[in-house]
Amino acid sequence: MKKVVKFGGSSLASAEQFRKVGEIIRSDEGRRYVVPSAPGKRYSDDIKVTDMLYDCYHAAAAGEDFGRKMSRIKARYQEIIDGLGLQLSLDEEFAEISENFKNQAGNDYAASRGEFLNGKIMANFLGYEFIDPAGYIFFDEEGVLDAEKTNTCLAERLKDVERAVIPGFYGANYDGTVKTFSRGGSDVTGSIVAKAVRADIYENWTDVSGFLVTDPRIVDNPEVISTITYKELRELAYMGATVLHEDAIFPLRQEGIPINIRNTNRPLDKGTMIVESTCNKPKFTITGIAGKKGFASINIEKDMMNTEIGFGRKVLQVFEENGLSFEHVPSGIDTMTVYVHQDEFADKEQNVIAGLHRAVQPDSIDLESDLALIAVVGRGMRRNRGTAARIFAALAHSHVNVKMIDQGSSELNIIIGVENRDFETAIRSIYDIFVLAQV
Ligand code: ASP
Repeated sequence: MKKVVKFGGSSLASAEQFRKVGEIIRSDEGRRYVVPSAPGKRYSDDIKVTDMLYDCYHAAAAGEDFGRKMSRIKARYQEIIDGLGLQLSLDEEFAEISENFKNQAGNDYAASRGEFLNGKIMANFLGYEFIDPAGYIFFDEEGVLDAEKTNTCLAERLKDVERAVIPGFYGANYDGTVKTFSRGGSDVTGSIVAKAVRADIYENWTDVSGFLVTDPRIVDNPEVISTITYKELRELAYMGATVLHEDAIFPLRQEGIPINIRNTNRPLDKGTMIVESTCNKPKFTITGIAGKKGFASINIEKDMMNTEIGFGRKVLQVFEENGLSFEHVPSGIDTMTVYVHQDEFADKEQNVIAGLHRAVQPDSIDLESDLALIAVVGRGMRRNRGTAARIFAALAHSHVNVKMIDQGSSELNIIIGVENRDFETAIRSIYDIFVLAQV
């Protein structure tokens, strides 16, 4: 077994957390490649080291004295080193980092040091080789990951390395300077490493026991999803449910390597398996429910709209010209509705209305705001009757008025539009009927 294990910031925020991580790694011979994040929060209003680094560099870039900010960062690492009783000094590294800060090494360089330093500690703690991703993960001139070059170089470098620590979150720009992924990007490093070593599994260790059926801020203690496909995950993630960086999926999806989301604080929990495809039936017909508030709808009416070829294209072109992407476009015989993000639409609404008048001469245009979209997602709904009926019965019982319904041809999801104020009630009632009624 060859496993790549990535640990998030909260799993590495203190010596105590490092110890848990050490036990997890040592308990399984297969856990050979370790990708650490920077130390995260130790308690809820603590500051992540990555944010401390951005802040410190901000001062350095402004020519201010950043000595005290840097000392605070150093203290975070020293606390871990001392707590683990390691014979390790990061003095040289900190001297070099301070020097580079003075020489304006850039925001990305600054932020990447969080993972770099944590990787040094992790390698020392485990007795694993330290490999700096700046030599093996590459971005092209557009700032996009050069996946092919990265995979070739990283695979070659790791070929004969039995065990290694590879810090997450960064690589090298085309000009050799350090470049980071977007926030949360250590997940991406983990997946790149998993691809390069052709891992059997990519374990992503965090502080929750997997992907939850729905948002715990809306439903108390929701069930954990035991297995989810990449496609289902994408639907839910698009609607705001996140445990994993979106770009972490692509490299693995190509290779068919499963991802296992695990909880460092509850290592016996099996977590969530994210897979390409599975015969494993979801426990509750639906896999997950996610949603977002803050949509607006533009309702366009015109007599005989259905006979006008090109009507839809002209309408959508107006949105395109205004730089707006649309979410859903339900239509009737003489009506067409376009759902957009309210905040993006707000500044442009009058331009859009004028544009629509010019483009399609509608009889009327009516705007509605403060709408929410809810996605009910599940491979179990495919070729299975009754799911929609149960969803809408549940909503009716909870007195939720449904404004829009959209089901994709994949039968993987049903999207429901409701008013913002009904959002939580709607999610709770769908959860209740599919999950609570069955456990
Ligand atoms: N440390 C980085 C962040 O806070 C990257 C990561 O943790 O994945 O975003």
